[in-house]
Amino acid sequence: MGTLDGAYSLVLMSTAKLICARDPYGFRPLCYGKTPDGAYIVASESCALAAVGACFIRDVMPGEVLIFSRDGVVSRRERCGTRPKKLCVFEYIYFARPDSVIDGRSVHAARIDAGRILSETHPVTADLVIGVPDSGLDAALGYSRASGIPYDIGLIKNKYIGRTFISPDGRADQVNIKLSAVEEVVRGKRIVLIDDSIVRGTTSGRIVSLLKRAGAREIHFRVSAPPFLYPCFYGTDVDSRENLIAVRHTPAEIARMIGADSLGFFPTERLNELTGDRRFCRACFDGRYPTKTPEDTRKNRFETKLSERKEE
Ligand code: SF4
Repeated sequence: MGTLDGAYSLVLMSTAKLICARDPYGFRPLCYGKTPDGAYIVASESCALAAVGACFIRDVMPGEVLIFSRDGVVSRRERCGTRPKKLCVFEYIYFARPDSVIDGRSVHAARIDAGRILSETHPVTADLVIGVPDSGLDAALGYSRASGIPYDIGLIKNKYIGRTFISPDGRADQVNIKLSAVEEVVRGKRIVLIDDSIVRGTTSGRIVSLLKRAGAREIHFRVSAPPFLYPCFYGTDVDSRENLIAVRHTPAEIARMIGADSLGFFPTERLNELTGDRRFCRACFDGRYPTKTPEDTRKNRFETKLSERKEE
């Protein structure tokens, strides 16, 4: 841990011991719990503990090493406090499941707050608020509650996502229609549409046209994250700058490009209201990286990019 500089969580296991460690910045969440029959469980997200009937004990502290054995649990804290805490704020916006609690803050509550803040900073007159499943739904509910505009389910996630079919001429065609619009809900309506991010803009444009084809009258796109302006080097796939639409275009231009009637992003300066703690990483939004970054800042082109994954 004295050698590695960056984001990691480790779990090591032998027949006698279970050892876990969280990097000193605490970029990624890590917690542990115990099952009723006394087994210890370590997981990135607290929702995984509930899934196996374990109760949550606590988060592993940034820089902490925990050693579990028959003799109990030993906490080693020599590395705690050697780096400033920098939990990834995007865990609250997109990565984590809403039923998780990270460093004492509920992900669901953080997303509800994101929606409320969006309604304060980007209000609009509309008939309906809908969210893009899954991580846009909680923020949509928050926008609806704060603005008084009714919430509804206007988009349904297609069950057959990412399946590849071989067409008669032998080509493999990717089924890329991930969402369907609920026509009865959206027809003739002025809609506030909430999504968690815009990367290249391609997916956002498809969703807007899907809703317009289903009869939506206006689409006011609201994003529960600030614009992506820089790549991420801490294990997530936020893309190279050349692929980030917000690097070269203003919100008004992006709105035109994706076919929306208006567009509003979450304000970067209010991100601390999502985490309940000022010590977090937001480098993909403001370029202030907590560690040294590679000189060649192009991301590996063979990685699955967030934008591509969202489009599957
Ligand atoms: S750069 Fe962005 S995605 Fe990467 S760890 Fe920081 S906040 Fe998270």
